[in-house]
Amino acid sequence: MTPSSKRRLSRAPASLLRRSRRLLERAAPAASAGGPQFDPQAAALVLSPHWDDAVLSCWSVLAGAGEVTVANVFAALPAAGASGPWEAFAGLRDSRERAQGRIEEDARALALAGRTAYNLALPAIQHRDGPDAVGVPAVRRMLADAVPRASLVYAPAGIGGHVDHVLARRCARSLLGEGMPVTLYAELPYCVTHGWPAWVAAEGPHDGGDVDAYWEAFLGDVPEMPPLREGRVVRLDAGAAAAKLEAIGCYELSLGMATREMLAAGAFHTAEVMWELTPGADPGS
Ligand SMILES: [Zn+2]
Repeated sequence: MTPSSKRRLSRAPASLLRRSRRLLERAAPAASAGGPQFDPQAAALVLSPHWDDAVLSCWSVLAGAGEVTVANVFAALPAAGASGPWEAFAGLRDSRERAQGRIEEDARALALAGRTAYNLALPAIQHRDGPDAVGVPAVRRMLADAVPRASLVYAPAGIGGHVDHVLARRCARSLLGEGMPVTLYAELPYCVTHGWPAWVAAEGPHDGGDVDAYWEAFLGDVPEMPPLREGRVVRLDAGAAAAKLEAIGCYELSLGMATREMLAAGAFHTAEVMWELTPGADPGS
């Protein structure tokens, strides 16, 4: 702050002074905690923990109007040499070659919506030393380099409890605490493990289970969540659903055939669910 602006501030009414100080205090930690910073003129940002989450769960955002940036968060290439059943099935040398293939298929799928992605060099859970080897500060530092500004952040809701998804959600909640609008999205295929809840689509549970309760079991650490049924249900029209299905078909190395076929069935690829978080609760968890 310049000396002259300080002088102007000192002559301001007390209420304005208090408000200005609060805004300055709120802005200060954001500058030191990494990005992205809130900028209403910037693109929206989709946090995609892996090389498929944005397409599977946020197709309506990717295919919609407006500027959208995608960040694949846990997108470091693993070391060469290790291989497992997926590599054996696909005839690939190792998990590094499979990861390179996954980056390419994700790029093809995103291109169907006219989008590209940043791949952050953070290891996914199976390639790091435990769930806490990477934390929110590391994610935010890496994000700040790729995407310094955003007008809105879409983040995974953590339904299914995947460690990487929950960490991306924590990162988004820390941004929410600094004034960034944040919308959580229900992750496919995890969120349809038991079918859609009846308020989303007719393809609900056939065994009498409670899908709302299943989803809520993963959302206890998100005090900023509105009531579950206040979520925005986006139903893709026939053209958008067909385009999304084509994009899902790109993920031969990311998704097994059974998962791709399950997503193609019924309404599983034609609905998406999102919640706008309410700022104000403690983003400590
Ligand atoms: Zn994922």
